[in-house]
Amino acid sequence: MCQACNDKIELLTREGADRRNFLRGGAALAAAPLAASALAGTAAAQDSQNTLEASEVQAWATKDTSGSFAPQMIKRRAAGPKDVVIEIMYASICHSDIHTAHGDWGMPSFPLVPGHEMVGRVIGVGAEVVKFREGDYAGVGCMVDSCGECENCRADREQNCLNGTTFTYNSEDKVSGGVTYGGYSKKIVVTEDFALRIPPGVDLAGFAPLLCAGITTFSPINHWDLKPGERFGVIGMGGLGHMAVKLAVAKGAEVVVFTTSEDKIADAKAFGAKEAYLWTDEAALAKNRASFDLMVSTVPVAYPMQQFMNLLKLDKTMVNVGALFPIEGAQGMLMGFGRQSLAGSMIGGIAETQAVIDFAAHHGIAADYEMISPDQIGEAFKKVVNKEARYRYVIDMTKA
Ligand code: NAP
Ligand code: ZN
Repeated sequence: MCQACNDKIELLTREGADRRNFLRGGAALAAAPLAASALAGTAAAQDSQNTLEASEVQAWATKDTSGSFAPQMIKRRAAGPKDVVIEIMYASICHSDIHTAHGDWGMPSFPLVPGHEMVGRVIGVGAEVVKFREGDYAGVGCMVDSCGECENCRADREQNCLNGTTFTYNSEDKVSGGVTYGGYSKKIVVTEDFALRIPPGVDLAGFAPLLCAGITTFSPINHWDLKPGERFGVIGMGGLGHMAVKLAVAKGAEVVVFTTSEDKIADAKAFGAKEAYLWTDEAALAKNRASFDLMVSTVPVAYPMQQFMNLLKLDKTMVNVGALFPIEGAQGMLMGFGRQSLAGSMIGGIAETQAVIDFAAHHGIAADYEMISPDQIGEAFKKVVNKEARYRYVIDMTKA
C-alpha cells in the first residue's frame, strides 16, 4: 500500500510491535510464537498429523455457465510447514462469483468451485506456523498466494503482484498444479500469510463478507483518506455497497446512498446513512451537485456514470469498484471543468484486509445476511442478479 495508507493503518497497530508482522498477524495475535511442537509424541499430535495429509474434500461446483451447482469431490494438498488447514464454516456469495461462473470475464476453467469470502476453524497447522493455533478462527479472501518479492508485494499490495497473484479460485495453482478451488467447499489449505485472523466472539457468518466486500470498500475509504464529517456517496447498495455504508459511517463520514431499489432507502438509513435517494430522483441529483468528497460505485454493470461524477466537489474522486467492464458515459469536458478523477481499485492487500477485520470487530460491524444451504447456491445466484439479496447470501457449511 502507499505510504499514506501505511501511516493510517499504523495508527491501528500496537505501539512497539513490528508493523508488518503485526498487521499480517492481526490484533488478536499472541505475543509468543505458537509452538506446534508442544504436541509432539501425543495422541493429539497424531490426529494433528492426519489433518495435515492430502485429502478429498466435498465441494459444490458448476460445470458450465448455467450457474447450476452440484456436489463434487476436490483434492486439497498436504499442508506444508507454513500452511494452515481450515474447516470452512461459512462462505458467502460475491457478485464476482457470479460474473466468473457466467463467463462474463472470459470462460473459466470448469469444474469451477467459487467462493472468496470464507470463515472457518483452523484444524491443522504446519510445524512452522506462527499465526494460528488449532481451534482458532480464520478467514480466506480473494487471494491465496503471491510472489512476495516484487515491489507491490513488498508494499503489502499482493493483489497487484507483478508476477501474478494466485487468486482463491479459477487461478493457476502454482503449488499443486491445476487450478485453485474456492470456498464453496468444506476445507481449504493455505499458507498462513494469506489466512486472516478472525477475533473470537464475532458473528462468524457476518464476518465472511468482510474478506471481499469489506476490504474492497474499506481500501478506497482508506487510500483516498475519507475524514470524519466528509461527504461520501455510495452508488448501488448490494453486498459491497452496504459494507461501504457501515464502514464509512464508522469512520464518521456523512454517507449518502444512491439506489435503484426503493425499499433500500430505509435500510440505508438504518445502516447509518444520512440520506438515500433513487437514481430517478432528479431533484436529489440536482441538490447534491458538487457536494461529495469521495464516491464509490459498486454497480455490477456499466451505466452512464457522469450523472454521479457531477456530484463530486472540485478535485475529488469517483472510485469504481463495481463493473470491471468498459466505463460508460464519462464526459471529458465535464470532468475537466470539475478536475475530477475516475479511479479503479481492486480488493486490498493482506495487511489491509486484517485491518478491516479488526476495524469491524472494534466497531461491531458485520454484514447483513441470509443463511442458505449449499443446495440453494444456484437459486441465490439468480436472486443476487435480480437485486433480491439483503445483503449477502452466506452458505452454511456446518450443516452440509
Ligand atoms: P451485488 O450484491 O449484486 O450488489 C450490486 C448492487 O448494484 C445491487 O444490489 C444494486 O443496488 C445495484 N445495481 C444497480 N443496477 C444494477 C443492475 N442493473 N443489476 C444489478 N445490480 C444493480 O454485488 P456485489 O457483490 O456488491 O458486487 C458488485 C460489483 O463489484 C460486481 O460487479 C463485482 O464483480 C464487483 N467486485 C469488485 C471487486 C473489486 O475488487 N474491485 C471486489 C468485489 C466485487 P441497488 O438496489 O441499491 O441499486
Ligand atoms: Zn468478491
